[in-house]
Amino acid sequence: MRSVTVLTGFFLAVSACTSDTPPPAASTATVFEGARLIVGDGATVIEDSVFVVDDGVFQAAGPRDAVPVPDGAARVDVTGRTVMPAIVDGHSHIGYADVAASVMSADNLTRENYLDHLRRYAYYGVAATRNLGTDPGDLPFELRSEPAPGAALFLTAGRGVAKPDAGPNAAYYRPSAYGVTTEEEARAAIRELAERRVDVVKIWVDDRNGTVDKLTPDLYRPAIEEAHALGLDVVAHVYYLDDAKELVRAGIDGFAHGVRDQDIDDFFIDLLRARPYVYFIPNLPSRGVAADADLAWIAETVPEAEVERMRTAAAERTPEAAARADAFFAVQARNLVRLHAEGVPIAFGSDAGTSIGWTVHEELADMVAAGMTPHDVIRAATSTTAAVVGLDALGSIAAGKSADFIVLDGNPLDDIDNTRRISSVYLRGEEVDREGLRDRWRATP
Ligand SMILES: [Zn+2]
Repeated sequence: MRSVTVLTGFFLAVSACTSDTPPPAASTATVFEGARLIVGDGATVIEDSVFVVDDGVFQAAGPRDAVPVPDGAARVDVTGRTVMPAIVDGHSHIGYADVAASVMSADNLTRENYLDHLRRYAYYGVAATRNLGTDPGDLPFELRSEPAPGAALFLTAGRGVAKPDAGPNAAYYRPSAYGVTTEEEARAAIRELAERRVDVVKIWVDDRNGTVDKLTPDLYRPAIEEAHALGLDVVAHVYYLDDAKELVRAGIDGFAHGVRDQDIDDFFIDLLRARPYVYFIPNLPSRGVAADADLAWIAETVPEAEVERMRTAAAERTPEAAARADAFFAVQARNLVRLHAEGVPIAFGSDAGTSIGWTVHEELADMVAAGMTPHDVIRAATSTTAAVVGLDALGSIAAGKSADFIVLDGNPLDDIDNTRRISSVYLRGEEVDREGLRDRWRATP
């Protein structure tokens, strides 16, 4: 029997060499060598790194000397480039925009449109986004459970909770939120959301400049209580400091905006100290002065007419309007810097609805303009947001994490605008076909 076994082995070896099937490779890994590596923890930068990707996962990452290269691995030279984790957007409203026509409508809520938006995210280096409260129907949950190649992952809060007609801006969004007026309605909404297994509950506590009724404590307290009993976090759209204080007392888990009406005070900081897990997604407003006239990086995915409209709007902004925008930005910037200095977790979100993908890079720049360091902002947009949205495999470049990363032609620690100089994007270990996507979007009338 022994000789037969040997003989069989011999024939197998011969056939492996002579058939059309190539011999098994020694390794299926790809090794990326020489980049400056921003790990995503807000502290670690490796100037001459090596990292190994296999099976969609980082197998190893570290200084060149410390990472063994598997035999037969493919090698990619990224010397002179900077690599950072792919971004996680904790606050979006994708699905509604027809980007080519620059029109928002619930009629656009098709699988193909959501996927188009998730590909726009992928194009600009975003690994995942979380829609906050504007997702009616079953489709969002299907999209969440079926990640598409070359597209960002999708999380959803389903429908958010507000007073009737006081949720997302009605000019854009079909009334997609639950409109509740009693404690029992509030609890029933939360139970329905829990059955759908939403990723988080979104509530709106804002009177929109006195034009609508905001959700009151007698409704959001039981809603938060019900959500927590069912294992769900609650994140609030907020505007006023007084509401933010009351929401912290009521057990809110996170804020989808900063405080916008005034500077936060010591009492608010004390409330947050008692609940150190409560996070803020700053969602800063536009600054008064157009940050840059060069919109070429946006024109890669947006029709020229739309880019022209943006240029004109920036050029025609009056000094008064610019000053108002700057003042509105300044109060939120001060609040962001104070929260960050006090050790409150700062996460990241674009609030994208009409403009998809590229706006994450504007938000990164706005957070730096507010006074955070580029490194702290990158940490907020990667590992911190990955943690608060519950996608622990994302947000950092370390062994065992999902291989989602951006290769940049400039160092964003020197200038945050270098996050826009994207050489390539990898999601779950696969390179995103940015050129193919660009061609597709440019061909769209
Ligand atoms: Zn929003």
